[in-house]
Parts: sequence; structure tokens; C-alpha cells
Amino acid sequence: MQLSIKNLSKTYANGVKALDNISLEIPKGMFGLLGPNGAGKSTLMRTLATLQEADQGAVKLGSIDVLENKTALRKVLGYLPQEFGVYPKVNAYDLLQHLAILKGVRQKSERKELVNSLLERVNLFEHRKNHVNSFSGGMRQRFGIAQALIGSPKLIIVDEPTAGLDPGERNRFYNLLSEIGEQIIVILSTHIVEDVKELCNNMAIINQGKLLFNGKPSDGTDALKGKIWEMEMEKSKLLEIQSQVQIISKKLVAGRPLVHIYSEEHPGFDFREVQPNLEDVFFSKILGIKPTRSSQLV
Ligand code: ADP
Repeated sequence: MQLSIKNLSKTYANGVKALDNISLEIPKGMFGLLGPNGAGKSTLMRTLATLQEADQGAVKLGSIDVLENKTALRKVLGYLPQEFGVYPKVNAYDLLQHLAILKGVRQKSERKELVNSLLERVNLFEHRKNHVNSFSGGMRQRFGIAQALIGSPKLIIVDEPTAGLDPGERNRFYNLLSEIGEQIIVILSTHIVEDVKELCNNMAIINQGKLLFNGKPSDGTDALKGKIWEMEMEKSKLLEIQSQVQIISKKLVAGRPLVHIYSEEHPGFDFREVQPNLEDVFFSKILGIKPTRSSQLV
């Protein structure tokens, strides 16, 4: 089963074009939707989750017309929104029971078995009697995945799930998601390049509502081979050369700027060629750099 998005557009009442003719084919597995804040990710995720309307376009999950037949889609959807609100003073077991009832798991013994197995799966069984609002960020997100898994969904959408998680929690969350992604379509929307690098076989980059890249992370890095150069320099040097080179990123390493630039030839100075990474792909797409000899992907 595949999720097929065709020419999807959405302009808000204030004139912001949040989605601008987006077309994407999303296969089974982990799919990363990467974009800076304000790119249109949540608008796309909410539209796919049938929580808001598009102005035009079509979305199909297998044979389900997502925009027309919202009820059919909701039956096979698991959604973890950016803000996952929980009822205060309800423990994890009872809350999951309640959500399972809402999702139509009527039979008591079946529900009990389901809730216990989901709590095991997300590694929260031993915390099942604790209130969900006392959970850490990572535990809360894992609980969010447990509720998204009720009803054996075929599509799971997680919106910015790792914000605020510490590295250990993030790793546990990654492992859980990639396990799930072996069987169904999981769309992970994020502005964190690392999330996509670690997890996703396929990805897209969007910015200002436009699709800038769609492919495998390695397609993106391969297209930049031989064109990314790195140099560590003093801040004064950076100021001197920044108008002469196409800077992709700069970060401080031990107080000194480490600069990545895009250049089709050796750019001079003391730049050395480096293996392109996904961050280079991300920033070069956001900056609108088009390699001349590229395996054109969009
Ligand atoms: P992202 O999830 O990538 O941060 P969003 O989809 O939330 O992006 O937002 C895309 C753009 O649409 C932003 O410019 C945002 O300010 C705007 N936007 C989002 N929701 C609304 C809304 N309800 N009304 C008006 N503008 C909105």
C-alpha cells in the first residue's frame, strides 16, 4: 500500500500559501518530511490526517480517497500530533483503555489484551499505574505511539516527535518508530535533520509550501559529491570570504566557525573536500542551490 499525494495546495485566509502544489508518493517504511519551521509540514500532516481541508489536490491511501472518505481513512490512521494533550490524573492503563473504546475496540477481554500488549511494546508496562501527565517527555511520546497503534493502523503520522527529548529518550523513540516502520507507512515530520538521517529510507524536503527534494537520503548526498568543502577559520576570515563563496552552513566548533560551502570546483583558500551529509543536502535545497550535474530528483 502506498500513499499518493497529487498537486495538493492550501492557502490560509491570511494569504499564506502553506502548501504549493505538492505531489509525493510515500511507500511503506519510514518517510521523513523535513523542513524548517513554517515550511508547511503541520499543514500537510493535518491534511493527511483529515483534520483540515486542502484547497485542491488529491490524496489516496491504497484505494481510499483520503480527502473524500475521511471516515475510511481514520479507521486505518494512527496520529501523534505535535501537542499530545492528556487528561490529568488518569493513569496510562486507564487512558489507553479509554482511547481504545473511542477507537471502537468494544470487547472487554480483547481490549485488555490489546492495552497490555501496547504498553509492553512501548516499554511502559511497568509504569502503567502512573499518571500520564507525570511522565517524562520521552515516556509521553511513547505513550502517544501506543495510542496511535490502537486499531492496527496502516498509516502513522508523527508530527515533530523528538522536540524536547533527551538523547536517551530520543534513541528509544527512534528504535520504536523504526520497528513500526517495517510493516506500515510511517511519516515523520521534523525540522531535525538528525531524525531523518537516523531513521528514514525515503524523505522529502519542503520549504514555503514547496517540495524541494524527494528521494532517498543517499540520493541527496550523492548529488552533492565533490561539491561540499569545509574549512575551520577565524571569525574575521569568515567575514572576509563570505561574499566570495556560497556558504551552506556554519557552526562554532570550540569557538571557531566551521564552514561548509558549495562549490563545483576547488574554492581556493584552505578548503578541503568532505563527504556531503544530510545537513548539506537540507541547507543547499533551502538555499535553492542546484547542482549542474545532478541526478535530478524533483
Ligand atoms: P510547519 O509545521 O512546517 O512549521 P505550518 O504548516 O505550521 O508549518 O505553517 C506553514 C505556514 O502557514 C506558516 O507560515 C504558518 O504561519 C502558516 N499557518 C499555519 N496555520 C495557519 C492558520 N491556521 N492560519 C494562518 N496561517 C497559518
